[in-house]
Amino acid sequence: MYDVIIIGAGPAGLSAALYTSRANLSTLIIGKDRGVLERVEKIENYFGVPAPVSGGELVDNARKQAQALGAELLTEEVLGISWNGVFQVACKESDYEAAAVIVATGASRTKGKISGLAEHEGTGVSYCAICDGFFYRGKDVAVLGHGEYALHELGQLLPVVGSAVLCTNGQEPDGQVPENVRVERTPVAAIEGEPLVEALVFADGSRAAVSGVFVALGSAGAVDLARKIGVQVEKNTICVDEKMATNIPGLFAAGDCVGGLLQISTAVGEGAQAGMSAIAYVRRNFRTSGELKTAEI
Ligand SMILES: Cc1cc2nc3c(=O)[nH]c(=O)nc-3n(C[C@H](O)[C@H](O)[C@H](O)COP(=O)(O)OP(=O)(O)OC[C@H]3O[C@@H](n4cnc5c(N)ncnc54)[C@H](O)[C@@H]3O)c2cc1C
Repeated sequence: MYDVIIIGAGPAGLSAALYTSRANLSTLIIGKDRGVLERVEKIENYFGVPAPVSGGELVDNARKQAQALGAELLTEEVLGISWNGVFQVACKESDYEAAAVIVATGASRTKGKISGLAEHEGTGVSYCAICDGFFYRGKDVAVLGHGEYALHELGQLLPVVGSAVLCTNGQEPDGQVPENVRVERTPVAAIEGEPLVEALVFADGSRAAVSGVFVALGSAGAVDLARKIGVQVEKNTICVDEKMATNIPGLFAAGDCVGGLLQISTAVGEGAQAGMSAIAYVRRNFRTSGELKTAEI
C-alpha cells in the first residue's frame, strides 16, 4: 500500500509528487501519457524559463525530478476508484491501494456529439456504471465506447442488467468482449425517449430499444473517476476547497480538472497545495508505514 497515489502525470500531479516524496511519503504517480503538454511545441510564459521550451521537455524534466526524489511513476490507465477503509485505484493490469489520492487528470474529455445525449443526462444517460447500474436491474442498456474503460464499465453492468450492447462507433473493441454482449459498430446518431430513454437510433436508421445508455468514450476523465466515489462535481469539474480537498476525506484534486485558469503555473501551484494537504491527511490519520491509525477518516 502507498501513502499517496496521484492519478495524472501532468504539471499538477508531478508537482504534488515533489511535495509528498520530499515529505517521505511513499508516492505512486499513475499517468496514461504526458497529458496535453505532449502536443505543445512552445511555452514562453512559465516562470523562470526564459527560452521557449516544448511541453514534452518540461514534463520530462518534471518526471525525472519526481523520480529522483523517490516517487514511482507508472504508465497505465486508471479505470476506477473505490474505498474500503483505504482507497483502491483500479487499472487494467492491477489494483493499487493508498491512504490518500490526488486526482490530477486534466480537463475532462468531450462527451461526443449525439443528439439527445445531453438532454437525457439523469433520465437514462449515465457516466458511471458503479453508481447507476443498479437502476437498470434486468433492463436492456447500451455502453458507448470501445476502449479499456468501456469494457470495464461493461464488466460492472453485466451482473446487474438484462442485456447490454456495446456501441463502438465503427471501432474494434480494445479487448475481449463477453460472449453475451452484442457489439454494434454502426455509429449512434441519436438517443430517443420522452422523458426517459427508450431507444438508440443508429446512423443507418436502425434502432435498438434500451432503457439506459452508459457513456464510456475514450478513457475515464476526472469527472468520471470522481463520480464513482461520490465526489461532488459541477459542470465538468471537480469541486474542491482552498486546500484542494474534495468532499471525500483523503481525496484531493488539482490542475485543469478543478477548472479556473487552465495554465501550467496554476496546475503546479494547485498540485503543491494538494500535495501538502495529502501529507497533513496521511500524517493525521495513518502511520508512515501506511497502517491505519484511526478509524475516523
Ligand atoms: C494546445 C495547448 C497549448 C497550451 N499552452 C500553454 C502555455 O503556453 N502555457 C501554459 O501555462 N499553459 C498552456 N496550456 C495549458 C496547460 O497545458 C494545462 O493547463 C496543464 O497541462 C494542466 O496540467 P494538469 O496536470 O492539470 O493536466 P494535464 O497536463 O492534462 O495532465 C493530465 C494527466 O492525467 C493523465 N490522465 C488522464 N486520465 C487518466 C486516466 N484515466 N488514467 C491515468 N492517467 C490519466 C494524463 O495522461 C496526464 O498525464 C496549453 C494547453 C493546450 C491544450
